[in-house]
Amino acid sequence: MIGILGGTFDPIHYGHLRPALEVLDALDLAEVRFIPCRIPAHRATPLITAEQRLALVRLAIVDQVGFVADARELRREGPSYMVDTLASLRADYGDDTPLCLILGSDAFRELPAWHRWRDLGHLAHIVVMQRPGDLPPFPPALEEFMTPRRVYAASALRREPAGGILFQPVTQLHISATRIRILLAHGQSPRYLLPEAVLASIRDQALYLGATR
Ligand code: ATP
Repeated sequence: MIGILGGTFDPIHYGHLRPALEVLDALDLAEVRFIPCRIPAHRATPLITAEQRLALVRLAIVDQVGFVADARELRREGPSYMVDTLASLRADYGDDTPLCLILGSDAFRELPAWHRWRDLGHLAHIVVMQRPGDLPPFPPALEEFMTPRRVYAASALRREPAGGILFQPVTQLHISATRIRILLAHGQSPRYLLPEAVLASIRDQALYLGATR
């Protein structure tokens, strides 16, 4: 069973890394693939390039067994739609391997705005990580989509290649990339919110100094 964590990773931080490790362990995943988007489909253009964001992801995960950086969205033209990414992963892993799309609860809430969002359920399971302060209810269309698909154990995901939705409790870390960018732009330190190696590389390259969001 494979985990997929897509994101802007602008930059990657412990709010991505620790919950992803907990999902890797709790679901006994073979790997979690970190997939930075090239052009986010649903939000403003990031402040640094996709290659720079990917390089920071690589630095963050280099010594964690089971964490893999996946550059496939950088190689694809146009907006980075998750439905296309999952189709490409499905082609790589075949029809029988369970794929788990891992989403923070804030991203899950926004799902009905995603391109061909209902098709995501044909391609992968969805594993939702609770994010601080983000409580139900979800929008009606999402509740309707979720109810028949909801499962309560990783073993249920393992039995099918796609189609389940599992809520996985994770350590609540009130960390966002937005806050890190703002701290850097104000000359304040985001230390201990993200790996030292990532922060050192951000400082070496003088990234985010002009960030306003
Ligand atoms: P920004 O502050 O720029 O919006 P972000 O910190 O939310 O960024 P993304 O790259 O947009 O980071 O997030 C990628 C995925 O990781 C999303 O599914 C998001 O919900 C999840 N995620 C991000 N931060 C956390 C966190 N602190 N706890 C749990 N999940 C998180």
